[in-house]
Amino acid sequence: MPSKSRGLLFIVSAPSGAGKTTLVERLVEQVPHLRLSRSYTSRAARDGETDGVDYNFVTRERFEAMVAVGEFLEWADVFGNLYGTSAADTERVLDLGTDLVLVIDVQGARKVRRRGIETTAVFVMPPSFEVLEARLRGRSKDADEVVRRRLQVAQQEVAAFVEYDFVVINDELTAAVDRLRSIVLAERARLKCMRGEADEIVRTFG
Ligand code: 5GP
Repeated sequence: MPSKSRGLLFIVSAPSGAGKTTLVERLVEQVPHLRLSRSYTSRAARDGETDGVDYNFVTRERFEAMVAVGEFLEWADVFGNLYGTSAADTERVLDLGTDLVLVIDVQGARKVRRRGIETTAVFVMPPSFEVLEARLRGRSKDADEVVRRRLQVAQQEVAAFVEYDFVVINDELTAAVDRLRSIVLAERARLKCMRGEADEIVRTFG
């Protein structure tokens, strides 16, 4: 049930190629009142990506100007491109009482945590290094060098799982989406979320 109080903020991080985009897209399709945050990025749109849908694509200059005036809740340099979450967009959604998922990298998650913002952070892991490598090589026309770099970054990133509240291993898509969904539903069932509704029920007892 949607709560009329402020929405919950979820963070999902995973190494590139762990399948988090598909996972999170399925999650928001299945769970009502849960939205996916749209980041800003300085990277060019890939084939099939649309501005204002997949990302807000902006120039590096515009991105840096936004950083300068403090428009980002967090931002990070990932593979040489800048990515950031708008503080105002995040506030707007949470104020409506809608829950929000930020799909951000490990550095971004640290920045949010450092601000003392309450979040539920989930780390999505591939079942093994070999599986990640196969996915990265299989999915794209990325040059060998790009894949190698992503694997190197992944090696450092996976060790950061200990900083998260939950870990989901993306071995099988449907099962992994189910586990992610359970996390969201369990967070919504916490006392602090249910208090108002539960108090009203108690009142009906007279
Ligand atoms: P891609 O270019 O493949 O879409 O994303 C590359 C990486 O950037 C992914 O790990 C993704 O999670 C991360 N990313 C996307 N948006 C943001 C954001 O707003 N902030 C941060 N810190 N990372 C992001």
